Amino acid sequence: MALTTRRQFVQQTAFAAATLCGSPIKALAGTRRMFEAREQNTAPLDAAAIRKLVSQISGHVITPETPDYESARLVFNRAFDRRPALIVRCAGAPDVARALEFAQNRNLPLAVRGGGHNRAGFSVCDGGVVIDLSGMNRVEVDARKRVARAEAGALVRDLDHATQRFGLATTSGGCPTVGIAGLTLGGGEGQLMSKYGAACDNLISAQLVTVDGRQVEASQNSNPDLFWAIRGGGGNFGVATALEYRLHPVTGVLAGALMYPAGRIPELLPAFVKFVAAAPDEMSVVGAVLPSEQGTRFRMLVLHCGHPRQGNELLRPLRALKPQQDNVRVMSYLEAQAAAFLPAPVAHFQTDLFLPELTAPAIAAITTATNDAPPNTRVFIVPLYGAITRVGLSNMAFPLRHPGYELDIVGLWDAPAEKATAVQWVKSLRDNLQPFADGVYVNQLGETSEKLVRAAYGPNYARLVEIKKKYDPRNVLRLNQNIKPD
Ligand SMILES: Cc1cc2nc3c(=O)[nH]c(=O)nc-3n(C[C@H](O)[C@H](O)[C@H](O)COP(=O)(O)OP(=O)(O)OC[C@H]3O[C@@H](n4cnc5c(N)ncnc54)[C@H](O)[C@@H]3O)c2cc1C
Repeated sequence: MALTTRRQFVQQTAFAAATLCGSPIKALAGTRRMFEAREQNTAPLDAAAIRKLVSQISGHVITPETPDYESARLVFNRAFDRRPALIVRCAGAPDVARALEFAQNRNLPLAVRGGGHNRAGFSVCDGGVVIDLSGMNRVEVDARKRVARAEAGALVRDLDHATQRFGLATTSGGCPTVGIAGLTLGGGEGQLMSKYGAACDNLISAQLVTVDGRQVEASQNSNPDLFWAIRGGGGNFGVATALEYRLHPVTGVLAGALMYPAGRIPELLPAFVKFVAAAPDEMSVVGAVLPSEQGTRFRMLVLHCGHPRQGNELLRPLRALKPQQDNVRVMSYLEAQAAAFLPAPVAHFQTDLFLPELTAPAIAAITTATNDAPPNTRVFIVPLYGAITRVGLSNMAFPLRHPGYELDIVGLWDAPAEKATAVQWVKSLRDNLQPFADGVYVNQLGETSEKLVRAAYGPNYARLVEIKKKYDPRNVLRLNQNIKPD
């Protein structure tokens, strides 16, 4: 007998939701739904079950019949068009515990959503439950202690705005709408990382709900194994409800973009490498290789958090290369953080590689691929140096501790017909660069496999498996770059 398909599950849910909303019920459909649920060893997702859940939580349950369902199920990467059975927009940790219990009792797929920016679309599922934390976005700052406590649905912009009111900041992502929980649990690279480390390096503690419904703290003193794992190991171990960060004084910065004319990649990438090798911790730079019909351009996004005079001095070699646009100037940190590379939701496929060096053959591979690229393709080059590379490899799960270059290779599309070409281009460049690579960054992977997850964690993988066995032995939290408990 065939098991229930995802489509059938969605139909069941629409049926249950219709019942909840008082729509006519077809007895035949109801019988089939009960039968299918039994076949799949799940409790039926009927109106009474949903009504009970609604009565048990302080937040908001969104079903396919609710007016905000269509917007609530959207994620940043529009390549994923999934239809969950329920979206539980939680108001606090007890709601998270109820939603976890509800999904597990019915053996439903379970996704956890913060900012919805996961490249692989993990924060939405077909026919299951989404634990949506977007309503939990308060950030409190203790300026005297230089500590921020953020609810796990806060976005990068929420954290940045709250901390900047006091002239403080911590490393957060380079896109204002990324969720801080997804970012930090996977590591968290940003414009302050060479000065202050990754986002996870600044995490003091986290509150989590484990899959058995317990509310636990993870810090150096409470559940230190869990604290080790969540700083890089992603959403594998529990649902974070709040995160506490160490803050640093950051006010005006020298920041902006230098854009170079097309056709100069073979000259500009070695200059970029030379600049990175000499850059002090205060200087952040990210390169973007931007193919277009007029040829491939190169853009560098810089941020210097030290004295502007020193910053301008350091930028001399880049300015000597005659950028066609140079909007680098002193600005607020918030302004500098607003210059995201992909500002609006878009369908895309992205993969990631970590290269210890950007050698001449690697530069040649990038040059060749981008000379012959479809429109809407990009390669972002994120150099890792400074504070982020001075943390021991096994201090916490996040393992990108060697100096080098993290490459995000992206193909975007507007029409579905463009997808195959974009994806193929990304994969082909990835394969050509693979011989120079040693690792990947989990947060920037738009694909997944056990091989990739092992590559992402390297020597930290075995310990992550042990901690997964302790906190989620049945692998309830598996819609992620999954660390399997067996
Ligand atoms: C435009 C764009 C810019 C980006 N810029 C950066 C950047 O500058 N630096 C960087 O390091 N990364 C960056 N990323 C990658 C980003 O860090 C990851 O995609 C991250 O997973 C996004 O977190 P989110 O909460 O927005 O996403 P979601 O899709 O909501 O969550 C992603 C995953 O994280 C887990 N998760 C989220 N919240 C929780 C929680 N509270 N408890 C347990 N698990 C949870 C879940 O497994 C979930 O599937 C960027 C991504 C995009 C699309």
